[in-house]
Amino acid sequence: MIIGVDFDNTIVSYDELIYREAIERGLVDGEVLKNKKIIRDAIRELPDGEIEWQKIQAAIYGPKMDRATVIEGVFDFLTLCKDRGIRTHIVSHKTQFANYDTTETDLRKEALKWLDRAGFFDMGLTGLSAGDVYFESTRVDKINRIRSLGCTHFIDDLEETFREPSFPADIEKILFNSHVSGDFAARTGGKVFVDWKDIRGYFFDGS
Ligand SMILES: [Mg+2]
Repeated sequence: MIIGVDFDNTIVSYDELIYREAIERGLVDGEVLKNKKIIRDAIRELPDGEIEWQKIQAAIYGPKMDRATVIEGVFDFLTLCKDRGIRTHIVSHKTQFANYDTTETDLRKEALKWLDRAGFFDMGLTGLSAGDVYFESTRVDKINRIRSLGCTHFIDDLEETFREPSFPADIEKILFNSHVSGDFAARTGGKVFVDWKDIRGYFFDGS
């Protein structure tokens, strides 16, 4: 078994950061839920909303990345994989720079710094080093990487990853998402989990 894991919104949460950023920019009021999708949809309704949303993304994936948080349960999952001798890799669709970032921050370097600070490169615990993290410029490149690493399973918050025609049929699709509409299993043949506790249960309970 080799497990591939997506990065943005699968390992790292920007919900709190997006909420604060959207309020500071006067794009939403304080009543809005601290949820990426809800805030994104509200901003996109505004005049120039798509640009405003891209500016927020440029800030949170770049100069403000250090304030993003670890999603509960993912660290324990990775350490459990290490204990059981299961290899893991992080594979992310992430461009090097953001269109609307005037600071020209290297988004990939910020992500690696964040992982390091959060303890993910403590080899003894997670088995991971920076060499196990792959950033790809397109979704198709990401899927090619997942295949070439020999992943048997891939965990991602975005259904689009699994619906890409080139996604290999023999890699198990695991969607980490609590807001799925309709029947993901029927559409993709994959499984949906709402949190890392459930993913951990799926892989390790009874083994
Ligand atoms: Mg993601």
